[in-house]
Amino acid sequence: MPQEPLHLRGHHLLCAFGFRGLGYGREFVENMERIVKVFFAPEGVEIELLAGPDDICGACPRLQEEGCGQAADAEPRTRARDIAVLERLGLKEGERRTSIALRGLVARRFDPALLRRTCAGCGWLDKGYCEKGLEAFQQKLSRGDGAGVTTDKTATTAFSRKERRERKERQEPG
Ligand code: SF4
Repeated sequence: MPQEPLHLRGHHLLCAFGFRGLGYGREFVENMERIVKVFFAPEGVEIELLAGPDDICGACPRLQEEGCGQAADAEPRTRARDIAVLERLGLKEGERRTSIALRGLVARRFDPALLRRTCAGCGWLDKGYCEKGLEAFQQKLSRGDGAGVTTDKTATTAFSRKERRERKERQEPG
């Protein structure tokens, strides 16, 4: 029987590269950890692309019936970001691709510096994790070993002592 695809909203294809065990509470972090691991698994999985709440949002305490409840206009703004990411990747909401194809596409089409524009307003942006994570993945790809890497490895080698401490504190940007 075919497996259900993973459902990811467009901009979460970027967030996956910067995830370092931080988030909006334990349930959210554990769920995201599991999803990021699946996203970077060497064997790949099928992913259905969304521009609305997805499998990551499903464990977020800020999720409301109408979508992201982080601020009054959070869902329309987040949806616009999803669509911008998908357009840059040449994809549309509802399409399915493998995680392997999506990882490669993000790495080819997103210069890390572009996140400054695409992710403007995100509380995680200034930490720099996402730009660093994407850059590290691109370097692995250029060495020919990117298809099978997980961010676990990337993150562990990239973490400074200060970042490990921050990780423990599980900070939540506003
Ligand atoms: S800056 Fe925010 S929206 Fe952009 S990839 Fe990082 S967590 Fe995701």
